[in-house]
Amino acid sequence: MKGIERITLLGSTGSIGVQTLDIVRRYPERFRITSLVAHSRWQQLAEQAREFGAESVVIGDIRYYDELKEALRDTSTEVLAGSDAINHVAKSYRSDTVVNALVGYAGLHPTALAIESGKRIALANKETLVVAGDLIMKEARRKGVDILPIDSEHSAIMQCLEGERREAVRNLIITCSGGALRDMAREELANVTPEMALRHPQWSMGAKITIDSSTLVNKGFEVIEARWLFDMAPERIKVVIHPQSIVHSMVEFTDGAIKAQLGSADMHTPISYALLYPERATEPQEDFSILDHPTLSFSEVDHAKYPALGIAYECLERGGTTACVMNGANEVAVAAFLGHKCGYLDIVGAIRYALDNASFVAHPTLADYDASNIEARELARRYLKL
Ligand code: NDP
Ligand code: MG
Repeated sequence: MKGIERITLLGSTGSIGVQTLDIVRRYPERFRITSLVAHSRWQQLAEQAREFGAESVVIGDIRYYDELKEALRDTSTEVLAGSDAINHVAKSYRSDTVVNALVGYAGLHPTALAIESGKRIALANKETLVVAGDLIMKEARRKGVDILPIDSEHSAIMQCLEGERREAVRNLIITCSGGALRDMAREELANVTPEMALRHPQWSMGAKITIDSSTLVNKGFEVIEARWLFDMAPERIKVVIHPQSIVHSMVEFTDGAIKAQLGSADMHTPISYALLYPERATEPQEDFSILDHPTLSFSEVDHAKYPALGIAYECLERGGTTACVMNGANEVAVAAFLGHKCGYLDIVGAIRYALDNASFVAHPTLADYDASNIEARELARRYLKL
């Protein structure tokens, strides 16, 4: 049994953040919360800080600093605000592990800084690897830092790869529920509203990733994430539709054997796997019986309905800043769609426009990614007339 592990939790008020705290609550002898970071939900952040006795909290949006400070007046918790403060706690010597559950590009610099200061990383923020997977994984190897995926597909693949030799791996097979609009015909997609796209059939998640799941941008991002996380050639990463979301992903080996990881569609499992690795949680969060799932089916992705998946492979082929452009344009378009400022098909339209017009850097630094992200966002706004 290891000693107590000090955790900085970035994005504590979100879907992954709250479930991470459920795990921390179950293992008080294993984990202690050092810092909690949120963006806008300051009341929830203050309650969490009290419950877990956080040494410091950061609110990303500085407009909420005064309220948060006042709410924690009678505690010894240090209250900070703004993105510099997020970066500060990400690299602080006071923690051993950073759980990055921020959403979007905002997660990149904190991950890079946590690696630089040699911390173990439990990574939910897939955008970190989508944007800069090459650079991030190189830095992690250089520093000897472990990056443990929280994304359920990558957690499944990691579990399937345990004890196996790399040369024996033929393909990674990522499963995909098909998202909220999977039963809709392609012609009907133009009229999809945020409310329709937010109704995910299996997983309860934050708004942005739920929309990304419906467009399959999320699956495209997961292919990119897997490419870097497992150092796997893109053509050896396959995606299959699996509507039941029971098989979380698979690995196919050279002898034809396929290993899969199965379980309920509950993010507590991959979160606890990342936090407790190489141990496992002593009990599941919820009971699961395979007998309740007599039918598991698998089928091919309809690429005409879901062009975003092919675009993600294209980004891997073009390399450099291309996936960063896809990510930046997608963030702007999803926010616009959620705010009823553009149509559903404009999301992929904005991505396409940004990719066709953005400048290209073949071997980007973090500063190049920042510039590329800004350019992609401007291009998306131009396309969407925002
Ligand atoms: P949520 O939207 O539920 O939560 C996001 C968190 O990040 C919140 O705490 C939010 O703060 C904070 N945040 C948002 N924007 C910023 C910003 N600009 N700066 C600092 N903090 C910010 O997202 P999820 O929990 O669903 O997703 C988090 C990450 O995990 C994403 O990258 C997603 O792709 C990935 N993921 C999520 C899964 C899920 O089941 N939810 C599954 C697999 C991966 P506040 O709410 O206070 O404004
Ligand atoms: Mg996933």
